[in-house]
Amino acid sequence: MNGSPETVWNECLAFIRDNISRQSYRTWFEPLQAVALEEEEGVVRLTVQLPSRFYYEWLEEHYFALLRKTITKVLGPNGRLFYDIVIERDEAEVHGPAGGAGAPRGGASMQLPARQPANQPPAPGTPPPQVDGLPRSNETRDGRTAPGRPAAPEPPGSPGAAPAGASPFVIPGIRKPDIAPNLNEAYTFERFIEGDCNRLARSASWAIAQQPGQTAFNPFLVYGGVGLGKTHLIQAIGNYARANGRAESVRYVSSERFTSEFVQAIQNNRIAEFSAVYRSIDLLIVDDVQFFGGKEKTQEEFFHIFNALHQDGKQIVLSADRPPRDIAGIEERLLSRFSWGLAADVQLPELETRIAILRRQAEESGTRVRPEVLEYIATHVKSNIRELEGALIRLQAHAALVGREIDLEMAREVLRDLIKEARPSLTVEEIQRVVCDYLKIPEDLVRARTRKREVVQARQIAMWFAKELTAHSLKTIGLHFGGRDHSTVIHGIQSVNDQLDTDPTFRETIEAIRKRLDLNTR
Ligand code: ADP
Ligand code: MG
Repeated sequence: MNGSPETVWNECLAFIRDNISRQSYRTWFEPLQAVALEEEEGVVRLTVQLPSRFYYEWLEEHYFALLRKTITKVLGPNGRLFYDIVIERDEAEVHGPAGGAGAPRGGASMQLPARQPANQPPAPGTPPPQVDGLPRSNETRDGRTAPGRPAAPEPPGSPGAAPAGASPFVIPGIRKPDIAPNLNEAYTFERFIEGDCNRLARSASWAIAQQPGQTAFNPFLVYGGVGLGKTHLIQAIGNYARANGRAESVRYVSSERFTSEFVQAIQNNRIAEFSAVYRSIDLLIVDDVQFFGGKEKTQEEFFHIFNALHQDGKQIVLSADRPPRDIAGIEERLLSRFSWGLAADVQLPELETRIAILRRQAEESGTRVRPEVLEYIATHVKSNIRELEGALIRLQAHAALVGREIDLEMAREVLRDLIKEARPSLTVEEIQRVVCDYLKIPEDLVRARTRKREVVQARQIAMWFAKELTAHSLKTIGLHFGGRDHSTVIHGIQSVNDQLDTDPTFRETIEAIRKRLDLNTR
């Protein structure tokens, strides 16, 4: 067999990179390393090391076909891919060297092409398949068995979950400070409906809730627009970890609350205490970190707390209303840390997910709502989940008031204004404002003569949205941009289309702006 494991794997990576988005590539493939390449009886085995079992589950579920194709392409029909899953012991990474079935050295391996397509991968939340040599989740970092931890993850909310017991690591006489968890108990995984819009974020959250601080996702950042479930999801991690004894001290705070606690600590001369309390947390959840923007002192304090927790293997979970690179007014060193682990987005839910959310909500409130009514609401209210829930609550209130059962006619009548308001057309100026606001460019520049690169790009993006979201002709659109002619508009739209075809980061930016515009059309 020619080549080292690295060169062969690099060939595989080149192929994989061309077939998936940059974000997925960076999250799932960049951290992997090839550790062995062996040939035996005509079968070539490439072993790659995975940082955790969650990677194994995720790759099997989402990239099985791609990996198989890649291996066949690079190694030929007799190529096989093996996984070697890292088991952390004593803080140092001990990797069992690659081995196939029956390998004596403890490295966990799976022969990938052997999986039958009919063999469904495990859904997040179900116990992973037993793989020889794999650590079960009742092994702690140092390889000992932790009391009170079930061998396999329990389904959310299952009874009999062990409460956090007395920690064997707390020295008697030295009391850990009491940490108020500050969690809303209604935000659980059980109540969180999974859809394509939130699958990665939900699966990663679930993995983290099982083993806070022990997955590759530290910190874990969930980002996305308002009302899409960020707060719900990150609190679900806290609620689950607490209820199942996975973390002894959990605290949820909004970044604003963190800031005001910090300011108070300064005023009362209690910084040391503030800092000590936060550093003693096992699972720290900070919501809406974009509000740290511009608050330098708070950021500095948070930076040090972050470092201390991260070094201790404590879990940090964050949320933001946009991807880390777009958050303004946050120091580079902190921003870069936000991207150390995993950043996963939540998107607007698709119709089926919206219906499922409404059905769950109706069930919980104990009212019977006909399927066609749920579908009617879900079809017309699509801006975000909070609005969706609001629409149903309004309808239920009305039904109670008039003492009638909810039907389609009532839904039409009661929600008429809400739904009519749902899609007024945008003006070109609104589009310019939202685009410039997002890209942090003074709005009047898109109508001015300047040819600075960022301005030209913002202008072209705004033109592109104007074409897509308004009924104006190219000529009229040009007039809104400082009287440019229609060929300039065509050129602008074309260059946005070109970049959309080639640049996944750019696509993400466009999608983020589109969500902003969606919110504006209400
Ligand atoms: P965000 O923090 O992103 O603004 P929230 O977490 O506050 O959004 O969610 C808004 C409302 O929608 C909450 O009542 C939440 O319970 C509900 N919600 C959001 N996503 C889901 C989901 N996937 N399944 C069920 N309810 C959801
Ligand atoms: Mg929120």
